[in-house]
Amino acid sequence: MKIPAANPLANYKTHRKALSRAVLKTLDRGAYILGPEVQAFEKEFARYNRVHSALGVASGTDALQLALKAVGVKPGDTVITVSHTAVATVAAIELAGAVPFLVDIDSASFTMNPAHLESSLKKMPAPLRKKAKAVIPVHLYGHAADMPAILKIASRHGLAVVEDCAQAAGTELNSRKAGSFGHAAAFSFYPTKNLGALGDGGAVLASSAAIAEKVRLQREYGWKQRYISSVAGGNSRLDEVQAAVLRIKLTHLDAENKKRAKIAKFYSHALPAHLLELPSSARGVRHTWHQYVIRSQKRDALRALLQKKGVGTLIHYPVPIHLQPAYRGRVRLGHGGLGETEKACGKILSLPVYPELRASDLNYTAAAINQSLRELS
Ligand SMILES: *Cc1c(COP(=O)(O)O)cnc(C)c1O
Repeated sequence: MKIPAANPLANYKTHRKALSRAVLKTLDRGAYILGPEVQAFEKEFARYNRVHSALGVASGTDALQLALKAVGVKPGDTVITVSHTAVATVAAIELAGAVPFLVDIDSASFTMNPAHLESSLKKMPAPLRKKAKAVIPVHLYGHAADMPAILKIASRHGLAVVEDCAQAAGTELNSRKAGSFGHAAAFSFYPTKNLGALGDGGAVLASSAAIAEKVRLQREYGWKQRYISSVAGGNSRLDEVQAAVLRIKLTHLDAENKKRAKIAKFYSHALPAHLLELPSSARGVRHTWHQYVIRSQKRDALRALLQKKGVGTLIHYPVPIHLQPAYRGRVRLGHGGLGETEKACGKILSLPVYPELRASDLNYTAAAINQSLRELS
């Protein structure tokens, strides 16, 4: 048995016929960048998320960066997020010229702890606080951050909210889509995400026409009219082939998220809750299980044994951003440090969870985990 930790090829094969047809049709049309496929995808994706509009861009990192700029983040501003996230979240803050300020996570949901956000804002050094402009909650692993609490704090402190939805396509909280709570939201369509392209891609969800227009200008040289820059901008475009792929994948997203939820349910029954910490969903959250993340004190040994048995796993993420060489001692940290973040990273392990896993794969994986835990006891 060989069960990879992620398998974007399998998902391509599932939809190969429709994808090939759509890609060839797009190639034959002769428009390759920001054409009718992108426009149609933007409409469909905005409708799916029940937001004002969506704009295709080149990556999730760009989506975050452009969303920050569109909600008014300027060079030298402070932007608050978590350290337990993909490095892209923090990289995007710096790409927008802002200073990252990192707060702790809630240990159950792995997402931003609103109480720590609040206490950190209160204790933030005055120069940083005066410049605090935005907060980025990350809906990590497919679990929604506590948006009602975060929105309340953000509004009290005059902060814009940009949601990082890279891992949360289809996630809901209180029957609303992740990405529909903030002023703007950023998605990545990296091939292994729940909504994955066959290359790079991303999107910004905008809550208003004004924010949408700012992103639209920024993604193509500040052009309102071709070749005439109204404002200084850059280049971050979604291409037609990726948009055609995404239009097909979007029609399967809910069904595939349901399959992920079934897999999560299987693991939660088949794995020993007294030997491992199993993931859960907070009330009102429709989890989309981008990752199924267990915690074990013996994580590294467990991972090595699973590898030997042919079960691939990953660690999302092994080192919190504030402890990575590029950011250590440079990014600013919330009040009292990031204890839960630092505790989590030594124990977390992401198990295979994608729609193409068969019952036999899952039985094998669960048996391999149970067997490995016996070997370790
Ligand atoms: C994947 C990811 C990103 C970045 O997306 P790219 O398309 O790789 O730039 C940002 N944030 C989170 C939480 C991610 O998982």
